[in-house]
Amino acid sequence: MDLGLKDRVALVAAASRGIGYAAARELAREGARVFLCSRDERRASEAAKKIHEETGANVAGIAADVTDGGQAEAFVNLALERAGRVDICVTNAGGPPATTFADTDMDMFRRAFEQNALSAIRLAKLVLPGMRKQRWGRIINITSVSVKQPIEGLLLSNTVRAGLTGWAKTVSSEVAAEGVTVNNVAPGYTLTERQDELAEVRGKGSGKSKQEIIESWAMQAPMHRMAKPEEIAAAVAFLASERASYITGVTLQVDGGWVRSLL
Ligand code: NAD
Repeated sequence: MDLGLKDRVALVAAASRGIGYAAARELAREGARVFLCSRDERRASEAAKKIHEETGANVAGIAADVTDGGQAEAFVNLALERAGRVDICVTNAGGPPATTFADTDMDMFRRAFEQNALSAIRLAKLVLPGMRKQRWGRIINITSVSVKQPIEGLLLSNTVRAGLTGWAKTVSSEVAAEGVTVNNVAPGYTLTERQDELAEVRGKGSGKSKQEIIESWAMQAPMHRMAKPEEIAAAVAFLASERASYITGVTLQVDGGWVRSLL
């Protein structure tokens, strides 16, 4: 299936590694011109170089912290200056810390809202006017299966991402008639560098090996394995594509069957 992504201009936030990186690489493989960002200049450039070498696509890596309004704006402006437009915007950021309500103070709520909701809303605010004008656009938010089935101990993710999902559904209706779609990709347990590090830490804390922790996450999904980042990226590329033109306002879980609900 030709996804129709050749020469589309894509922004991918928080993409020096993990799911963001895999999404940037998948879009580049499909022929899109990609602008990716992460907080660290060297890591962003290295990621862009690696993707360019592998795919031959035009990829730029820019230092921008998506929780900082000025830096997010500079990221978008750079893409607009160099490419003239933005067709696809994949919002992403690092996840919030694992907490329970008793050990979460108000500042932690504010930080999580900034990092995992406002960062996405801000990028959309910057790119949507251009998309509406050109009557074509794709916003894809990386969220989590926690929006469909809250995860014990991930209070902040469960709370803030649900808010972002409400926002995305509302905006999707506002812009639907103008050829712009707004969707979310909700990963289940995915073996990224972060999860690998987390398994190591959890293992040390509980007297288990890293492999045992990874196994325990994997066994929660009916597929009995964690996702590979490229499996999440494939869903992003599809939702970004011409082929997904009648899909908007949805949350597509990519979770090996982890969410037990019907819808
Ligand atoms: P990761 O830590 O491997 O990668 C995060 C990337 O984001 C890195 O490149 C980092 O440099 C960049 N980043 C972080 N904060 C940033 C910021 N403020 N501005 C710019 N760049 C920033 O994480 P991941 O596992 O790929 O997860 C990505 C997102 O998906 C997170 O929000 C995570 O909570 C969510 N998620 C992950 C999983 C999983 O199992 N991996 C499951 C569900 C949801």
